[in-house]
Amino acid sequence: MAKEIRHPAPAADGETRAYWEGAARGELVLQRCGACGTVQHRPRALCVSCLSDAIEHFVASGRGRLHTFTVTHQNQAPGFREACPYVLAYVDLEEGPRVLTNVVGCDPAALRIGLPVRVDFAPTEGEFPVPVFRPA
Ligand SMILES: [Zn+2]
Repeated sequence: MAKEIRHPAPAADGETRAYWEGAARGELVLQRCGACGTVQHRPRALCVSCLSDAIEHFVASGRGRLHTFTVTHQNQAPGFREACPYVLAYVDLEEGPRVLTNVVGCDPAALRIGLPVRVDFAPTEGEFPVPVFRPA
């Protein structure tokens, strides 16, 4: 199994701070629109569906299913090249949003579409970890 990816430090701003602070607590934080109920990710100041600014944050289940994935065998970026081959994936969260992420802690050959996965948090070079997923 490859080494873990060394992610660069996330830069939190006004729209993303609640997400990154949640990750630091070991929680996957999503947004829900207080006007129409749409659940969205990535974090934004406005609802992607109705443009309301009544955005609320909540702790998601952390459960999802593998929508699709690719196995990366070449990446010369520092922190990533040592981890090849690693898995880049889209995960469909139980709450609805589809997230671009990494699946870790498994043999890439064992992955399949629809596989149940659960969030975990990978350390970075900064104060906030990065959400990743592992087979559930
Ligand atoms: Zn809305």
